[in-house]
Amino acid sequence: MATSVLAPALQKEDLNPFQIAMHQFDLAAEKLGLDPGLREILRRPHRWLTVTLPIKMDDGTIKVFEGYRVQHNCARGPCKGGIRYHPNVTLDEVKALATWMTWKCATVNIPFGGAKGGIICDPKALSKGELERLTRRYAFEIAAVIGPDRDIPAPDVYTDSQIMAWIMDTYSMSLGSNSPAIVTGKPVFLGGSLGRNEATARGCLFVIKAAAAVKGLKLRGAAAAVQGFGNAGSIAADLLFHEGVSIVAVSDSHGGIRNLQGIDIPVLLDYKRKTGSVVNFPGTTPIDTEEVLSQPVDILIPAALENQITIHNALKVKASIVAEAANGPTTPGADAILREKGIMVLPDILANAGGVTVSYFEWVQDLQELFWDEDDVNRRLERVMVKAFEDVYRMATIYEVDMRTGAYILAIERVATAMKVRGIWP
Ligand code: NAD
Repeated sequence: MATSVLAPALQKEDLNPFQIAMHQFDLAAEKLGLDPGLREILRRPHRWLTVTLPIKMDDGTIKVFEGYRVQHNCARGPCKGGIRYHPNVTLDEVKALATWMTWKCATVNIPFGGAKGGIICDPKALSKGELERLTRRYAFEIAAVIGPDRDIPAPDVYTDSQIMAWIMDTYSMSLGSNSPAIVTGKPVFLGGSLGRNEATARGCLFVIKAAAAVKGLKLRGAAAAVQGFGNAGSIAADLLFHEGVSIVAVSDSHGGIRNLQGIDIPVLLDYKRKTGSVVNFPGTTPIDTEEVLSQPVDILIPAALENQITIHNALKVKASIVAEAANGPTTPGADAILREKGIMVLPDILANAGGVTVSYFEWVQDLQELFWDEDDVNRRLERVMVKAFEDVYRMATIYEVDMRTGAYILAIERVATAMKVRGIWP
């Protein structure tokens, strides 16, 4: 690999997620010749809130947690973004994730801005009662800044439809009336949308199909590896499996497994449900979580956390398509290496935008109190994702940049146009 690629890449390797988000933004803003004033505004979130969350634990002690809600930009509509429960949550990470949400919503052209939330906690170490009290206290503390027409949370890492139901209930209780449109990713019987649970993975599948067509890759018989086996990763693996793709390696936080002949994903899903992990799945060889990234596959799906494909392992990536189901899985240094290797990276703000797209559909259905069937949801999702892929691909071609910068150019242009026309108040 030419040192001209590695030297600048190395300098970008130790950035935190927010610095990475800014680096990606700067690359595109430069290409676009974005007005310096707008650039200055968009380089920082509009608002960030830190909340202290004292919780009575089951053993009678009090534990104090810290939570965040960050709103990056609302020029194109209410802010939108998930809530993450994880011990490694930081304010910078939440700022990055909120910023990516702004670009993601603009990339798929849905009328939302970007937000994100998080609590520093290990949800696996909390009882259900503790998790509920923590969630309700957090919902109450951020109620001042969220709302169906202000900022609409959703699930993210280690949060789910039950947690959304508690947030919806807490918000509705303090309001005195039912407010299903306050969150998305709710249980279907509480105003959730059919197809939302699978939407991130299904959206990812639609863009992988579009990319495979461009690359001349036939999906049936192709091989794939998936890092992370939660909502995004396990469903993406299952959808690809049913398209005839051979899934040869997967991992979760406990470890990885491999079978170069292909893993039976529906059986693995059942195994994971029963045992809590993919590790030791019969008929597979154990591998490190990181080894999943370097398998001999056509398609690689990082679907866990940030900064997984780095300058230290990017050279080993063999896939021709990397579809970022996770947010921020590739460092800027790794990005440069993958580009040099001719690998098409479908950036997070495109590849995992299916989740927020069906969240948008859920919000629309809640506000209309009129619900669509699953085929309708999936058809609409496909239209949005295919159009977004085409738009990003066109931008990448016109500006002679990779798909990530193409997506940023598209998104920044849309947000900047909205800001210019609205004007700067007062
Ligand atoms: P999840 O909590 O359902 O699953 C996370 C998975 O990652 C789990 O299987 C966990 O074991 C695994 N994991 C954690 N650390 C790991 C590691 N070091 N190596 C391998 N696996 C590891 O979360 P999710 O909703 O699937 O989110 C995963 C990623 O997708 C995140 O980056 C999230 O922001 C992104 N995303 C999710 C959605 C959504 O709708 N759920 C939408 C857009 C983006």
